[in-house]
Amino acid sequence: MAGVLIFADQKEGKFRKVIFEMLGEGRKLADHLGEELQAVLMGQNVEEYATVLGEAGADKVFVIDDPLLANYTTDGFANALVKLISTENPSIVLFPNNAVGKDLAPAVAQKLNAGQASDVIAIEYDNGLRFKRPIYAGKAFAHVSFTSNRTMIVTIRPKAFEAATPQPGKQPAIVRYASELDASSLRQIVKDVVRKASGRVELTEADIVVSGGRGMKSAENFKILEELADVLGAAVGASRAAVDEGWREPQYQVGQTGKVVSPTLYIACGISGAIQHLAGMSSSKYIVAINKDPEAEIFKVADYGIVADLFEVVPVLTEEFKKALAE
Ligand SMILES: Cc1cc2nc3c(=O)[nH]c(=O)nc-3n(C[C@H](O)[C@H](O)[C@H](O)COP(=O)(O)OP(=O)(O)OC[C@H]3O[C@@H](n4cnc5c(N)ncnc54)[C@H](O)[C@@H]3O)c2cc1C
Repeated sequence: MAGVLIFADQKEGKFRKVIFEMLGEGRKLADHLGEELQAVLMGQNVEEYATVLGEAGADKVFVIDDPLLANYTTDGFANALVKLISTENPSIVLFPNNAVGKDLAPAVAQKLNAGQASDVIAIEYDNGLRFKRPIYAGKAFAHVSFTSNRTMIVTIRPKAFEAATPQPGKQPAIVRYASELDASSLRQIVKDVVRKASGRVELTEADIVVSGGRGMKSAENFKILEELADVLGAAVGASRAAVDEGWREPQYQVGQTGKVVSPTLYIACGISGAIQHLAGMSSSKYIVAINKDPEAEIFKVADYGIVADLFEVVPVLTEEFKKALAE
């Protein structure tokens, strides 16, 4: 076994913040195990992005360049990655716990007959490695350890770990791998990618999230949350009730069956605080709840609670933040 391998998910050379957080914790793991910190870049014409990973601490970058990997598919990425892992035999592979990582990691673990710890928020180094992850919608924590000596597969929750300290000028060793993929063996082909224009920061990466629930009463009313989010540089999330009403698209849902967010500040507007919603946001550093029902469950997890009509409070907050931030 040799190496701590980071799956360096990227889109057109842009890495999500979580990749740098994985490289930060990956460095600690590598030093602890006395092994190399490695990253794998997959896609088409991706080698030039390896420098970014080197400067974030990677000692070695494996590059798997293939037109068949130009767009993500489970088969293509899993098969190519399993070949690399079987050859290099890393001790551990870290994936981001985002849409791609949640799809890819279990496929890889299954093919390798390896164990997986998902949505890890902390790693404990004493008495063997243990991986801490929330369970029961965030009500409890499991501390997971691996019993076999196979490669450990782990997905990492965004914003749970410190990002790597930049090391300007650090050049990683580059190792090119052939994917050996055969187009006929892929069960999915991406024919077209339709991009949605949104200037907003991605929900799981945002430092501030402003979310609305059924209390917003309509899709149009989300405009006041957009205005507040614009002033704060925040992402806009929603409860499942708001998504089910068709007021927001499903990718903005926060909760057990939506996205898990851990921003510094989460502002919940017209959200009651059902356990399934809390599962997606209770690890936020500061929670502000605006709800006209003083008995709402959300106040039990809120650091600051405002018992009021959100349609009165939110515009005032927007104006006050605007003034304060302009000073
Ligand atoms: C298997 C399963 C998975 C689920 N997954 C998720 C999930 O991922 N995410 C999720 O969010 N939910 C999820 N749910 C649904 C969850 O149980 C709740 O039904 C949902 O979170 C409720 O959304 P809400 O708080 O917006 O609506 P409600 O519970 O209806 O609450 C609306 C709140 O708005 C307040 N309000 C109304 N008007 C105003 C006003 N003018 N000013 C201020 N406050 C006002 C009310 O007092 C109330 O507290 C799941 C449920 C199940 C069974």
